[in-house]
Amino acid sequence: MKTVSSLFNSKIECPVCESTIEYTKVRSKSIRLIKQDTDFCPWYEGENPVLYEAVICPECGYGSHVTTFENINRYEKAKLKEKITPRWKKRSFTGQRTIEKALEAFKIVLMNLIAMEANKSEIAKICLRIAWLYRYKNDKEQEKRFLNYALKNYKLAFHSEDLSQGKFDEYVCMFIVGELSRRLGKLDESSQWFSRLITCYADPKQKHRISSRLIETTRDLIQEIKDAKANQYNEEATSA
Ligand SMILES: [Zn+2]
Repeated sequence: MKTVSSLFNSKIECPVCESTIEYTKVRSKSIRLIKQDTDFCPWYEGENPVLYEAVICPECGYGSHVTTFENINRYEKAKLKEKITPRWKKRSFTGQRTIEKALEAFKIVLMNLIAMEANKSEIAKICLRIAWLYRYKNDKEQEKRFLNYALKNYKLAFHSEDLSQGKFDEYVCMFIVGELSRRLGKLDESSQWFSRLITCYADPKQKHRISSRLIETTRDLIQEIKDAKANQYNEEATSA
């Protein structure tokens, strides 16, 4: 029996150096989602498409999330040509990726975003994916480090960016800030963000813009925080 690979290469023109480059994708037919964590981290059976979301130009070192590879302006290109390309050592990122190789690719994307002074929400998105990669590896310390960077940048994005367009809107942002705070043990802060989201949902003018599933998860997490706090209180009471 002939086995069909779950991976294939696609061609794209690099918007920075104009080389035609190849990058690897997972065939949509091969993608098997098993579960998703409360911060949206997906778990797959077989090939994990998250590992392939960081696309790198092997020629000039430009890298971005696969969904935004072509969205780069003249100012950003100039920044990359000044700060990334002169230090770039040509290397390939096609073919099957280990978590290590994916981490290397995502960290190059992060360096690109910092060099081009990108939106905080884009920086946060990449930091969150790096945290997930460490979660897949069960490296809790590094996971926490990158969850912290993601949290910091999502908070900045919430206060400084127009998030009214697209799938990642201000409500999903509030949720993720609450959830990352919870995962990092900042329970009071987390409750505040979740309560703020519930308040928005209670407003008839905003309700239709918020997914009811997101609210369901938010309510579950508020309860989890209450339980965690009660346990903390009991432990303190019994150890006193
Ligand atoms: Zn390039």
